[in-house]
Amino acid sequence: MPIPLVDYHVHTARCGHASGAMERYVERAIQSGLTELGFSDHLFMYWLPSDRRDPELGMAEWEHDFYVEDVERCRRQYAADITIRLATEADFIPGYERELERILRGYEWDYVIGSVHFLGEWGFDDGRHVAEFARRDIDALYAEYFEVVGASAESGLFDTIGHSDLIKKFGHRPTLDQCAAYQRLAERFARAGVCVEVNSAGLRKPVGEIYPHPDLLRACHAAGVPVTFGSDAHAPAEVAADISAACELMRVAGYTEYVRYDQRHRQIVPIETKTTPSS
Ligand code: ZN
Ligand code: FE
Ligand code: FE
Ligand code: ZN
Repeated sequence: MPIPLVDYHVHTARCGHASGAMERYVERAIQSGLTELGFSDHLFMYWLPSDRRDPELGMAEWEHDFYVEDVERCRRQYAADITIRLATEADFIPGYERELERILRGYEWDYVIGSVHFLGEWGFDDGRHVAEFARRDIDALYAEYFEVVGASAESGLFDTIGHSDLIKKFGHRPTLDQCAAYQRLAERFARAGVCVEVNSAGLRKPVGEIYPHPDLLRACHAAGVPVTFGSDAHAPAEVAADISAACELMRVAGYTEYVRYDQRHRQIVPIETKTTPSS
């Protein structure tokens, strides 16, 4: 079956909640038959004063230059075997767009993933704070979350929107039908010119589903939003995880092509046929 031969959402041990040397991630990508690997570690928690940045959620600001150097070192070291992309997964925090823009301007990214992991002060995807869901109206929470995700696309700061229904991570389901919400979000993505990411990490979480939901991905395809693939690996063994399942979801949603990036320029390529045996 044809699959995308890239993994565009991969973390490193620097973020404080991933493990393994970067070389192991690259080697796993090569073994899996990928032709491109994008490191997209969490940007430091730029919206908080430095004494409130959680070392388990992101690297320190001073480490950031070293992260970029590490990616460039891997790029040179493995140049014969795989293309390495330099990316970041940046939190979208309403009100901090200018600060983020200033930080992003300092590096030569191949692409920038925009993710919503916080609603106000609440890191809703953090297992330590999952009790907060019990205090929320889940339908209202979904609406609030999708509103912020739409705003993240419209900020113009991001190439790709990461795991665009992450709010489902722990299995909290809305009671209301989401079709209209999905369509509105897909149209916001299309107008903003962002890509949507098919992220297989949800399969490894309580929800047991790829992000985004098939209906949201279908709405994205109908609206003309291009797609990328990411495993959201936090360990070398997770590189390219469930890429076939992700590809099947893309196919069902109508996609035959996906996006590769080079210095923030997009190239739309057909979903390839894998030639290297998988491990
Ligand atoms: Zn992470
Ligand atoms: Fe994320
Ligand atoms: Fe991530
Ligand atoms: Zn992520």
